[in-house]
Amino acid sequence: MKFGWTAKARTLHKRRMFQSLALASMILSGAPLSAVIPDGGRAGMRFDAPAHMASRPARRLHSITVPIPPVARGLSLPPVEGPRDASRPLVVIDAGHGGHDPGAVNRENGEREKDVTLAIAQAVRDQLLKSGRVRVALTRNADRFLVLQERYGIARKLNADLFISIHADSADNDTARGATVYTLSETASDREAARLAARENKADFLNGVNLGGQSNDVSSILIDLTQRESMNISVSFARLLQREAAPYVPFRSAAHRFASLMVLKAPDTPSVLFETGYISNTADAAFLASKEGQANIAKGVARAIEVHFARKLTMRGDGAGG
Ligand code: ZN
Repeated sequence: MKFGWTAKARTLHKRRMFQSLALASMILSGAPLSAVIPDGGRAGMRFDAPAHMASRPARRLHSITVPIPPVARGLSLPPVEGPRDASRPLVVIDAGHGGHDPGAVNRENGEREKDVTLAIAQAVRDQLLKSGRVRVALTRNADRFLVLQERYGIARKLNADLFISIHADSADNDTARGATVYTLSETASDREAARLAARENKADFLNGVNLGGQSNDVSSILIDLTQRESMNISVSFARLLQREAAPYVPFRSAAHRFASLMVLKAPDTPSVLFETGYISNTADAAFLASKEGQANIAKGVARAIEVHFARKLTMRGDGAGG
């Protein structure tokens, strides 16, 4: 009786061993993980390594002996709600902060950013489901912590057409009020925008540990081009959001700003971060925490989303279909 592997199994095993060794040596040499991990879902695009892999110290990586799993395995995907028709646009709503990260907290009434963002995200979802024109998924539907890469990772993995991260601002000056919409730019539009980016990006550094792992490996030319297209769509949605939501939500005067926000870094998903108001301002915090305020914000956001996709369909010339 012949004992051992068939030739095919041996070749496969050798190939896997080689891949593992090549991967290990690239990791040890400091190459970003996303350069060596093929995306499980999309041809031609690369996906960021899951946070737990990227943040693992290099010393321990020599123990990898199996091929790296596709990124989707590290990510638990939320349910997609709304029409079953997969041709309907998919919007991913991200309630900022959560779990051990409360976000900003109002000093007077104790309202916490993580609670109002969740309530607003749920209100937006409910409003969108009412009209049934788009599909919706929430990155979190409970008081739960997600690293920033998981948030946009969910949108990418679900092939979302639009990603909206919901937040509430804070400032030392507690009279500051009103909503702002942020889109991605490596250069902040002003000092306040730069400070906001520093604050929001800090979510991954709580307890002194960088939970998000690598940050600057999304830099190949291919991704750059896709990202530029996504950024253009993001900017047009940001303007639309301000226009459509202004009757329901008080905005600041310069309401559209740019900042290098980690949560907006999906290269292929149009994304905005909506600071719905100032949690540090007691009147704004009360508005954001009220059912009425949440319903108003939801109405404005849903209107903008519907106009956005109606426009896209018209531009494609198949407006009658969608
Ligand atoms: Zn925030």
